Amino acid sequence: MVDSISTSEEKQMFGHPKGLFYLFFAELWERFSFYGMRALLTLYMVQEIFKAISERDAATAVVYASYGSLVYASTVIGGRISDKILGMRSSIFLGGILMAIGHFVLAIENNTAFFLALAFIVVGNGFFKPNISTFVGALYKEGDVRKDSGFTIFYMGINIGGFVAPLLCGWLAAEYGWHYGFGLAGIGMLTGLIFFWSGIKKNIFGDKGLPPSKEVFEKKIAGVPQKTLIPIIAVLCVPLIAYILASYKSIAGGESFLGDETIVGLIFKLIGVAVVLYLGNILMKATSDERKKLFMAILITFFMTLFWGFHELSGSVITLFASRNVDLTLMNASQTNALNSMFIIILAIPISLLWAYLSKKNLNPRTPYKFGFGLILAGLSFYILSISGASADEKGMVPFAYLFIMYFVISIGELFMSPVGLSKITDLSPKRIVAFMMGIWFLSSAYAFQIVGFISKQLAVESTDANVGGLQTLAIYTDGFGLIAQYALGAGVLVLLFSPLMKKLMGNVH
Ligand code: GLN
Repeated sequence: MVDSISTSEEKQMFGHPKGLFYLFFAELWERFSFYGMRALLTLYMVQEIFKAISERDAATAVVYASYGSLVYASTVIGGRISDKILGMRSSIFLGGILMAIGHFVLAIENNTAFFLALAFIVVGNGFFKPNISTFVGALYKEGDVRKDSGFTIFYMGINIGGFVAPLLCGWLAAEYGWHYGFGLAGIGMLTGLIFFWSGIKKNIFGDKGLPPSKEVFEKKIAGVPQKTLIPIIAVLCVPLIAYILASYKSIAGGESFLGDETIVGLIFKLIGVAVVLYLGNILMKATSDERKKLFMAILITFFMTLFWGFHELSGSVITLFASRNVDLTLMNASQTNALNSMFIIILAIPISLLWAYLSKKNLNPRTPYKFGFGLILAGLSFYILSISGASADEKGMVPFAYLFIMYFVISIGELFMSPVGLSKITDLSPKRIVAFMMGIWFLSSAYAFQIVGFISKQLAVESTDANVGGLQTLAIYTDGFGLIAQYALGAGVLVLLFSPLMKKLMGNVH
């Protein structure tokens, strides 16, 4: 059904603006590259980059966490530069090219190249990810009822990429070598760019996504137009970020003036203080109704951070657990990263239909309850992993079914929280700071990786044996998962207990 608000000259497809399908495929391939690479990252570090040191798990945990934090934090800056100067189209191109370079540099067998590659992806993702998501929103006029389903279709694209990529890249890496896996991720990114470019060539997007002002775009600073200066600065940031990523003391094997702290950890603590102060200031200046809603928006973002902090362990500790202690016959450890996206593809539509059905009966739970249940489901999923030890064989290998069910449960939790939260942030934030609040929403994923780093370091196995595993690691993992389960369940129960109060703060927002 085509909504009456949409203009007749806009090209439509399956009842949505045609541009959605170009963005869908562009994002599908971008996420293909992102998750294909992520599926290999932890194992590649443990088995290759840090193989010579006994603290290889800890070093991997720190680099993985720093990379994850920066890859999401950079979206705040990329979004801002796009709003002010570049516009979405140029930002997406710039980001996509930088990410593709990153993936191809990863295909070079060299430790310096490794950190440079991660830095290219950090900067590239900063330009690509926030802008392709906002572009989807820009395809619809305000109040267009198709927007939510447009985002659901887009979320499907993300997860189709996230499902197929670990299977293919994980297979290539195991059969032919790591670098073929990383290379395929790069080809994925280029394919995404070609889709986007073909949409522009066919004039699918009309005048959407162009720079906000031609004068600003062309404006010269030190004789160089901003449209050229920004890509130059972006590339110049790469070695700096690579240095930051590579500067953890256990990697160098020496002492650091920061002690156990990392540069990224320190940066995020400082940003955290600044954000809290800034939000405090905004809260004080807001009207009483705004204040209540904004406070809820902040709480929701905080709960989301906790959830991602547990969820994003999938690319680190859970991948290591899969490689060391899960009896895998159907797939290898990298490929298990496909399971989350697989369940999202299967469950996204049924769960959104469930909300619609419950709404009709006036039983659709309000957002705080959904968040409480989401955290409880995260806790339950880790509980399932924690009891897997009881079914381990004499080599310490547990049946694959535990991992499979764990991903099923946490994926339901994700659908209770992530898509719901995204739309509530826009409803709860005053219009004048909605873009800033979206930035904070992305920062929640960045902070989540600091939690991932902390947990992964606690569960790091110190060993000089590259094939460490078996009973030695089983207890470390299952005890750790048990503890995570307790924290997640505890947090979920607390959220549920306070839900009646939070419901009041949200006013008319469901
Ligand atoms: N899986 C989603 C994506 O890739 C969300 C990930 C996140 O925000 N941590 O877009």
